[in-house]
Amino acid sequence: MAKRQLARRKRVLVTGGAGFLGSFLCERLLSLDHEVVCVDNFFTGTRDNIAQMFGNHRFEILRHDVTFPLYVEVDEIYNLACPASPIHYQHDPVQTTKTSVHGAINMLGLAKRTGARILQASTSEIYGDPEVHPQREDYWGRVNPIGPRSCYDEGKRCAETLFFDYRRQHQLPIKVARIFNTYGPRMQPDDGRVVSNFILQALRDEPITIYGDGRQTRSFCFVDDLIDGLIALMDTPDDFAGPVNLGNPVEFTMLELARNVIDLTGSASTLDYRPLPQDDPRQRQPDITLAREKLGWEPSVPLKDGLARTIEYFRDLIEAGLIPA
Ligand code: NAD
Ligand code: UDP
Ligand code: UDP
Repeated sequence: MAKRQLARRKRVLVTGGAGFLGSFLCERLLSLDHEVVCVDNFFTGTRDNIAQMFGNHRFEILRHDVTFPLYVEVDEIYNLACPASPIHYQHDPVQTTKTSVHGAINMLGLAKRTGARILQASTSEIYGDPEVHPQREDYWGRVNPIGPRSCYDEGKRCAETLFFDYRRQHQLPIKVARIFNTYGPRMQPDDGRVVSNFILQALRDEPITIYGDGRQTRSFCFVDDLIDGLIALMDTPDDFAGPVNLGNPVEFTMLELARNVIDLTGSASTLDYRPLPQDDPRQRQPDITLAREKLGWEPSVPLKDGLARTIEYFRDLIEAGLIPA
């Protein structure tokens, strides 16, 4: 039994492992009995996200910026390093593009040398402000190359190009996941994303900030479902690289989201309409036919349940005095 377990055990590198998604991924990989090397420069990730794993002898953390080369010996790589919220990725846009592009080159170089399988955390943002709805993987997207979101969108698009060129040129076993809006505990309170903003505003009985008319849509996936999808994708045969959409196809307007949050928190918050940010996509919904077919995956946590768990997390942070009430 012990021998069989060791035979299945892999050493897995997770870049961006101290972030929101990365920390859940590290925990899941440890629970599957793997060794985890978590690489992070702590730009948006925190030690608090991963502190519960420090005592595990199969968990290792390296402070490192993926724009610089990295030499470690691993069997699999999940490349998640990149700030994901507009406030953070627009803080130093040049570094954002470097993280996606140089980070991809270095991790692909590492995969090439070690023979590791490598998965890229790409994004629905590569579809930009889409004219096709819902978005399927064969849609090429509508992205502004010179706007404030471009460092993220174009950086991620170039990373996809690099992944597919390393596959064509060097036969690397790659996987590309196009992740749609994901939410859950450990979202950062101050990163301006809609779910964390609305929950904190509701818990504080402050006005809920609706950008634009609130009729723009997003499709929100709970973090546990997303992690299932990433693991299932990594486990697909080598002839399947994707790209594959991972997200929850149930679409909501921002007004509907606000109403849900107000109901679940019992908040006295009112709505406060603000200007819509530049290049804000009007609608977004994944077509997950391919994920269902190739991964046998679909999300199972309804928005209300996932929101309730996320609200509980933020309420605990407030009660513990870790963020202002
Ligand atoms: P996050 O900001 O919480 O995590 C990103 C992590 O990467 C952080 O820990 C950060 O410190 C680290 N990082 C950033 N630049 C780095 C660098 N140069 N070197 C090393 N580490 C670096 O964001 P997240 O929501 O967990 O997103 C994880 C990945 O998933 C990102 O690549 C993001 O683009 C992608 N994604 C997330 C969503 C979502 O809704 N959360 C949607 C689509 C795609
Ligand atoms: N690289 C890395 N770790 C490795 C192997 C390579 O960080 O274990 C980096 C290396 O610095 C290089 C990049 O990955 O710049 C791309 O490597 P590749 O072998 O594809 O290209 P080359 O070294 O031929 O430029
Ligand atoms: N949004 C909003 N109020 C907020 C924060 C965001 O109405 O306090 C809107 C935002 O304009 C966008 C949607 O919510 O239309 C999702 O924003 P987020 O930044 O979470 O994700 P992304 O735009 O990257 O999908």
